[in-house]
Amino acid sequence: MPKEDTLVIHEIYASIQGESSFAGLRCAFVRTTGCNLRCTWCDTPQAFYGGTRMSRDEVLAAALALDTPLVEVTGGEPLLQPAVFPLLSALCDAGRTVLVETSGEADVSKVDPRVHKIMDLKAPGSGESRRNRWSNLEHIGPRDELKIVLADRTDYEWARDVIRERGLSERTPHLLLSTVFGKLAARDVVAWVVEDKLPVRVQLQMHKYIWEPDAQGV
Ligand code: SF4
Repeated sequence: MPKEDTLVIHEIYASIQGESSFAGLRCAFVRTTGCNLRCTWCDTPQAFYGGTRMSRDEVLAAALALDTPLVEVTGGEPLLQPAVFPLLSALCDAGRTVLVETSGEADVSKVDPRVHKIMDLKAPGSGESRRNRWSNLEHIGPRDELKIVLADRTDYEWARDVIRERGLSERTPHLLLSTVFGKLAARDVVAWVVEDKLPVRVQLQMHKYIWEPDAQGV
């Protein structure tokens, strides 16, 4: 079967969306295997290797069978697999609201414009800041979301400067700041955001409060 027709999948399951303006809504997750980055604080390293090869039609059927209005394709890094692009379009064709979570390193220009891209910008504390593909910003519009995970004050200042210098709030109203769980207190970020009048949404990793912080498949 050609690469465009199969995917290596880590898991497909239903839960609630945890980290975006869709947080709290019932959502089916398709988690692909493999990532070409190694963020210091990554909480899905189990998705780096292994997985099950499935046909694109099988993945589509499994996601739709969960019967959720929202479907998120995540990883790992989903955009490394060519079959993800037609999968995203097929999910849109099926009437779902479709999200894709991506690292900001992979090229997002070929993602179906009906999809909501939730794209990371990697701050220095991730160890992967040099991998940000800045040209991706040209493909970010009002339906998309930009997420920066902060490990410390240095990361916050990096995020603040990037938001201002690159005019990110003119591209999308959805600018998300998260903290590395257990490393940076959200209350500190809230104080800094208020002081700097930054146009962002501070968010918590909801799953880590509902389940055990290292729980998988939830
Ligand atoms: S891009 Fe995502 S999956 Fe890949 S290492 Fe970073 S946090 Fe983990």
